[in-house]
Amino acid sequence: MSASDPNTVITRFAPSPTGHLHIGGARTALLCWAYAQRALKEGRNGRFLLRIEDTDQARSSESSTRGILEDLAWLGIDWADGPTVEYNGHTIGGDERGVGPYYQSQRLDLYNQHIDKLIESDHAYPAFETPEELEAKRKEAIEAKVGYKYDREALQIPREERMKRMAAGEPHVVRLKMPDEPIAVHDQILGDVTVGPDEFDDFIIRKRDGFPTYHLAVVVDDALMGVTHVLRGQEHLINTPRHIAIQQALGFSSPTYAHLPLIFNADGSKMSKRDKDKTAKKAVKDANLSTSPIEGLSDADFAKWLKDKTRQLPSDQLLTLAGMLRVHLPEIDVEDFRRAGYLPEALNNYLALLGWNPKAKNDDGTDVERFDMDYLAANYSFEGMGKGQAKFDRVKLLSFNGDAIAQLSDEEFAKRWHQWATSYDAALCARFSAADMLMLAPAVKTRCKTLADGRDVVGFAFIADDAIEYDGKALHKALLKGDAKGLEMLKLFVDELDSIDPFTPEAIEQGVAAFCEKHEVGMGKVAQPIRVAVTGGPVSPPLGQTLAIIGKDATRNRIDSCIRNAESPSQAT
Ligand code: GLU
Repeated sequence: MSASDPNTVITRFAPSPTGHLHIGGARTALLCWAYAQRALKEGRNGRFLLRIEDTDQARSSESSTRGILEDLAWLGIDWADGPTVEYNGHTIGGDERGVGPYYQSQRLDLYNQHIDKLIESDHAYPAFETPEELEAKRKEAIEAKVGYKYDREALQIPREERMKRMAAGEPHVVRLKMPDEPIAVHDQILGDVTVGPDEFDDFIIRKRDGFPTYHLAVVVDDALMGVTHVLRGQEHLINTPRHIAIQQALGFSSPTYAHLPLIFNADGSKMSKRDKDKTAKKAVKDANLSTSPIEGLSDADFAKWLKDKTRQLPSDQLLTLAGMLRVHLPEIDVEDFRRAGYLPEALNNYLALLGWNPKAKNDDGTDVERFDMDYLAANYSFEGMGKGQAKFDRVKLLSFNGDAIAQLSDEEFAKRWHQWATSYDAALCARFSAADMLMLAPAVKTRCKTLADGRDVVGFAFIADDAIEYDGKALHKALLKGDAKGLEMLKLFVDELDSIDPFTPEAIEQGVAAFCEKHEVGMGKVAQPIRVAVTGGPVSPPLGQTLAIIGKDATRNRIDSCIRNAESPSQAT
């Protein structure tokens, strides 16, 4: 397989494991996946590979890698080549083509071999200036109001001497000698972008610590891994001419490039990891908090974080703080959306539309917007890609999610809700068994937009029997209005509770119906007073489920306390 084989499409997602998977990264991964899948569907050789760019040892972490792999697997974006993970009983990744390893930190020899080649062929050279010397030159340029560019001073040293000094171990960086001609990027989305030689200097390909820079590693890996198409965010467009220069110097063919639109918030600001901190900082200021309320975070560090716009707190501290201040942090990372109860299919559908328009119509003439991974894989192409910004519309995503939830079967909803609660809501898990969740599924799934909303639908089940707060208006309407028939029925019904056995939704519904028949009253006269009595308000899942989930004793206790409440002087008037 080679990059020039038209039947081969190999895309790659190459995250740096310095934090959670950002939603923009997920969008890139999704479109890379879809592009390769489409080739596969068309009978060509399509592969999507995952590479972990962990050469920045100080900022990379294993837990971040694990999180990224997990998040991708959760989204259903699986890779043919790359680190292996077991997910839901199947294996993702592997090294079928033998082009691994897929961690850059395990490929340092390969990078050095290529750097050596570049030095030998005079496309690169060692440079010995200290960081302080370079900083002084940069300052000079700023003072003189001219753009700073490396001045190639190292090239003044005769080649032989340079090589000797390098061989003797003198600290140095290695720089690529940039060509003197313009470099053109033929971008599949943006068209041709040509950059003149003035705009670049001889950039570093190996740092003083001996590690390659991102530019060198990415080019070597893409070539050795046979990557044919590079899809990545527009923020990397500035890097692409540099990459092409390295490819030319090493005799590699260039992959096809497609730079994806950046993702912006509704207010026009760039959607950034710092948005969560920004929201939390505002809430802290609004609450006039000047000392750290979080264990493990000193007052001094808290103050520094508050003052410095660029500082971020670790996720767990940020979540604790948000919980204390009752503020909702904007979801930015895939993990945030998981925690907030989004379904992967809704998220994928929405992400695909961030920059892509399928340009297809539904039967009723409206634009195709709702689709699954199969549709995306069959139809994704660069043609429908926008050049400008992509706006992240949270309202639209929420509506996609609500619809996706409503479409789940009861069994599937219960399974997902349970899985979600197992990870993110210990109290919900402690309160409801998987069977409880299945019983509640029909009612809950039609009333929530996220899995996290589910808890609000059944919030009454989390309140102690003697702590129900009655909605006075609802109570009055259901129990006391007119001839106070509601209250009378409630008093009679409480005595019938014992006869409903087992206390299941069906038996309860039948019991209530029989009760109404016996007393010759309409269902509303009975069901609504009971509902208000046990939940405090006029809205809840169907009565059978509502009562069954709290149980017979709680139903009795709550009805008794509601009757007392209704008969207190303040209600009667
Ligand atoms: N590791 C780079 C990043 O996370 C990859 C950029 C690229 O796709 O070339 O931004």
